[in-house]
Amino acid sequence: MTKITKMTRMTRMTGISVWVLTCSVIAAAFLWLAWIAYDEYRSVLNQEYRVLSVKARQRQANLSGALRSVDLLLQSVVEDWTPAVDPLQTLTEKELTSRLRQFPEVFNLLITDAQGRVLVSNRNDVTGLDVADREYFQVHRQATVKPDDFHVSRPFRTRRDNTFVISVSRALRDAQGHFLGVVNATITPKLFDDILRIDECTSNCQSTLINREGDIINAYPAALAPLVGKNLQGGIAFGEHMASGATMTKHLNEVKLAQVKRVSVFLDVPHSGLIIVMSRDHADIMADWQRAIIGQFIGFAAATGLALFLAPLVVRRERHLVRSEAFARNLIETANVMVVGLDDAGRISLFNAAAEQLTGYTRAEVLGRDWFESLVPKDRFPEVWQEFVHVSTHPTIASPASQFENPILTKDGQVRHISWQNSRINDKYHRVAVLSFGRDITQKVEEEEALHASKAEVERLSSWKALLINSAGEGIYGVDLFGICTFINPVALSLLGFEEADVLGKDQHALFHHQHTDGSHYAHADCPIYQTLRDGVMRQVESSFIHKNEVFFPVQMTVAPIIQTGVQTGAVVVFQDITQRKKMEAELTRLATTDELTGCANRRHFMRTLTLELARIQRHSITESALLMFDLDHFKQVNDRYGHAAGDLVLQVFTDGLRAFLRKTDLAGRLGGEEFALLLTGTHLANAQLLAERLRQRIADTTIPLGEHSLVVTTSVGVTVLQVSDADAESVLARADAALYAAKHQGRNRVVVWDASLR
Ligand code: GH3
Ligand code: MG
Ligand code: MG
Repeated sequence: MTKITKMTRMTRMTGISVWVLTCSVIAAAFLWLAWIAYDEYRSVLNQEYRVLSVKARQRQANLSGALRSVDLLLQSVVEDWTPAVDPLQTLTEKELTSRLRQFPEVFNLLITDAQGRVLVSNRNDVTGLDVADREYFQVHRQATVKPDDFHVSRPFRTRRDNTFVISVSRALRDAQGHFLGVVNATITPKLFDDILRIDECTSNCQSTLINREGDIINAYPAALAPLVGKNLQGGIAFGEHMASGATMTKHLNEVKLAQVKRVSVFLDVPHSGLIIVMSRDHADIMADWQRAIIGQFIGFAAATGLALFLAPLVVRRERHLVRSEAFARNLIETANVMVVGLDDAGRISLFNAAAEQLTGYTRAEVLGRDWFESLVPKDRFPEVWQEFVHVSTHPTIASPASQFENPILTKDGQVRHISWQNSRINDKYHRVAVLSFGRDITQKVEEEEALHASKAEVERLSSWKALLINSAGEGIYGVDLFGICTFINPVALSLLGFEEADVLGKDQHALFHHQHTDGSHYAHADCPIYQTLRDGVMRQVESSFIHKNEVFFPVQMTVAPIIQTGVQTGAVVVFQDITQRKKMEAELTRLATTDELTGCANRRHFMRTLTLELARIQRHSITESALLMFDLDHFKQVNDRYGHAAGDLVLQVFTDGLRAFLRKTDLAGRLGGEEFALLLTGTHLANAQLLAERLRQRIADTTIPLGEHSLVVTTSVGVTVLQVSDADAESVLARADAALYAAKHQGRNRVVVWDASLR
């Protein structure tokens, strides 16, 4: 009787132990799997943020360049707008058209008066229109834009053909800052097409250009064209970016216009009110990760199902302790991770199939042997033993498992790195004190170690290689901590003219970055790539590289540090050849200083030079300089009689004649219409007067052939010298002008020198 009761109680206890063990194993395994999945998810996401940020920064640099070019055009017009000289004489429709030759995307350049009426435009159908209601006019009139800044408008539709455009504008102001009007360049957002598509993204990578009001101005790829003109107000990422006040923000959320979850990076483009958005479908980024996770969880569910199915059978059918242990062993055997049990003394008491496979030992060989003596490398013994003591003396099974990583030695002497989850087990027979689940992370550890060697960097990047290296329109190369090139893409090779073998393993600075364009030595210490290697800071700079054929070419480059597990291992350089952009800037500078018809300095440039010369005279009062001012006599008649084109030709012949007299240090300028000036440096009054007289004579003696006609023009000349007491260049010019006026008054075709009586 007592014997039967005792048996029943024992059986019930056995059933409970099996359940507790099964559920503990399942719960621990599930938590562990979930933790690994989450960890990998974070790392995939962070990598994507990095890639999107680099892409956004490249686009930001290009966009700033393009806007700067358009703004240079506006500045050249603003500076030529001198209300004192009827600017419409200089800034004619023809002149605006000629300045626009460099800018096919700018299809309308216009100048308004202070009331918003278009005074002149490169398109005559726009002249006279009232644009006072346009945003670009309003912001400048109400001075919401800083006086020295340009403004990029919200997108709007043109009055003429309703196309979708944006504009870049600047205010015209007089010296006192009074508002005189606006100069505005209307551009098609197609200007940004090339900038947004500088490289091919993987599927679903999108670049979008928006403004701070949320209007979508341009989008790439082309399939997104219908988004242009839509508005992002109310979108979560847009709201977060605007609220953050940061230049660059990262987001993961459902997008307003597509109802899919996307990963995105928002980056402000300085001074423009524009924002570059790079984004990619979350599902797309996570596809590989998701497949792996689903696989793992299916495996896990199968094992769990099996365990839960077996457990009641075992409990019901096996009525004693040995059988229930066999069940647990079954469960352990099916796991595809190492399961190892150690007794209180550290001897191996449990060793599953996965452990056999990984270590090369059979169960018969290891059971009962000291784990630490057999499998732990000697130099790691103290820390591994400490972990064992820590776990085995832990009071309760309910506490979370302890995580630990250490290498083990396999039977054939190899080292494998294992990540352990160690738990204290209350086995009443004292066979298992510590139960450990081990995952083989050898490959991961070795990869991490290999990353420190520069060659492995290429391997690590291989999954991004298609994306970053080979597809890009930019040159890309990597260097290790010593500036030695570790990889380089085909575009970089073709821009530099080298073969891969010429560059790999070489110091890139010494190879193609060792001189400044003026031929002087370019020290390593000044090289931005070395600076990033030193301080780990990403930088964007303009510099120049030297082609294999020893010709310099200008580049825009982004240098980013390569950081691996918190340690910098090198840097990546992404660069573009910006020869075209530089040429355009040089051409703009030429346009901004030269008068197109005559090749003389334009008024602004001339006045600037005159100001500098006056300052020089005022510093060293020993030297003297003179100013001559010319106005052709009865020139209107030339136009009236022979036509405007003939008038232009006369102006060219006249200025050719002027220039023939000049020394290198002298400057001829066109002040407007048919008014010219000569600045003669280091020339005193008597010589200036002599030269003026010779010039006048020579012009009067020149016969200009005009088809079947020929004609002679004469000129009146006013002469003065720069004085230490002159307040500014304008007052010198005013004296020359007064003398010129006197010459006209006295009958033209003569030279008059200014004196006090003309005041
Ligand atoms: P004056 O002797 O008093 O100077 O008589 P003028 O006829 O030359 O009078 P004024 O200087 O006031 O007139 C300048 C004329 O020059 C007016 C305009 O038709 C002409 N003009 C101004 N710019 C150009 C140009 O670029 N090309 C041509 N062909 N004519 C111009
Ligand atoms: Mg004249
Ligand atoms: Mg005149």
